[in-house]
This record gives sequence, structure tokens and C-alpha cells, in this order.
Amino acid sequence: MHELSLAVALVEQAEAVLEREGAPRALALTVRIGDWSGVDPDAFAFAFPVAAEGSRLAGARLEIEREPLRVRCRACGAVTEPPDAIPCCAACGAADVEPQAGQAFDLRALEVAAC
Ligand SMILES: [Zn+2]
Repeated sequence: MHELSLAVALVEQAEAVLEREGAPRALALTVRIGDWSGVDPDAFAFAFPVAAEGSRLAGARLEIEREPLRVRCRACGAVTEPPDAIPCCAACGAADVEPQAGQAFDLRALEVAAC
């Protein structure tokens, strides 16, 4: 499962932050997932507690922030957010577009416990 390996990598990344800050555990974390990142937010939310088990992130509240797909059209120059995350210009319908946002998958925030 793709999302589980992503969740494991994210837990490792967050563990490194906790280690650096000397925090015993995390209370909550926010992850940004782009609509065109190839990551299924529901599958990720399901995989996260599995990946976090036994780590300093066990029991932490997961918040998922969505990033809509935004494309710049090479045909008409418009920057639009096409519906349903289909990479296509919402202004003229051209498929010749360059994604500008929506591919994100990153750790945005980490709320740590003081003790
Ligand atoms: Zn266009």
C-alpha cells in the first residue's frame, strides 16, 4: 500500500523534528495533501495510526489540509483550479496545462507535548 509507506516516511520525518526539539511526543500534526499528488487522503488517514504505532506520534491527532489542483494554461494563459482535479484549463478547456499547485505532500505543522 502506497499510503502506508508514505505514512511511515512522514512519521520518521516528524520523529526527527521531535528528537531535535527534545519533545517526548506529538499531540497533533497537520499534513498537506494535494488533490493531484496521487495520495488518497482517506487511505492516508487510515494508514497513519498504523505507521505511528510505537513511535512518539502514537495517538497524535492527524489533520489533513487539502491543496486544490491549480494549473496554468499554455494555450490561453489563464490560471485556474479545474474541478475534480482534472489537469485541464477551466477557462478554455485546453489540456496543455502546467500544474502550479496540487502536487504537495508535506508535513505542515507539529504540535508537541511539553511532557
Ligand atoms: Zn486555457
